[in-house]
Amino acid sequence: MRRPLVAGNWKMNGTRASVAELTESLRMQDMPTSVEVVVFPCALHVMQVVDGLNGAAIDVGAQDCAADVGFGAFTGEESATQLLDSGCEWVLVGHSERRLIFGESDDVVSKKFVSALECGLTPVLCVGETLEQRQAGKTVEVVARQLAHVLAQAGVQAFGRAVVAYEPVWAIGSGLTASPQQAQEVHAAIRAQLASEDQRIADGIRLLYGGSVKAENAAELFGMADIDGGLIGGASLKANDFGAICRAA
Ligand code: 13P
Repeated sequence: MRRPLVAGNWKMNGTRASVAELTESLRMQDMPTSVEVVVFPCALHVMQVVDGLNGAAIDVGAQDCAADVGFGAFTGEESATQLLDSGCEWVLVGHSERRLIFGESDDVVSKKFVSALECGLTPVLCVGETLEQRQAGKTVEVVARQLAHVLAQAGVQAFGRAVVAYEPVWAIGSGLTASPQQAQEVHAAIRAQLASEDQRIADGIRLLYGGSVKAENAAELFGMADIDGGLIGGASLKANDFGAICRAA
């Protein structure tokens, strides 16, 4: 059985004061012990959130990491080494906002994925198609290509210590959620692609859905056979909503 996982991506939101409030409210939530919960504050707030959640069963991750590990002349970057040192256990890689706004290629995403694992962080590899690609009937092809790139660089065994999040770009922050059937179809394709290389890895890996998940639609999405939880944006900024989503998993 795969343990459900619910992750909150806070994106570029919050001040020290509002993050302190959100963290405190999260501590008060009745989180189901059957579900693994992680939040991803911006890098500046990671240490504050790690301290604030001390003793709570909620992990902390970063939203991105450098392609290179260790230390060096990479102005503005944070390495997986440093994130681990700051108390992170997880990191998102290849979020569509990184790919589309900051031009991250599959190659860079693959390097980040490998770096995260090398340092002992659990990477959450994000994949997903744009509206244009969906309308052209290319959804599964696009997602398969994004996954194939990382598979080629990291090897299938690496996915034994990773999570994949399917986030259709058109569903992010738009209020348009993929239907449970639409999401399930892509999740099944991702699992089949992994199974073609290693059945055990495919059976064990958690596949998250992300894109306008709310308390109202979470249970139906999480009820699909290959959806093992969610990657939540907007709704993760409200502790009550996020708690309700965690309880739906
Ligand atoms: P929303 O839940 O706000 O649509 O964001 C999804 C997302 O991008 C999580 O990484």
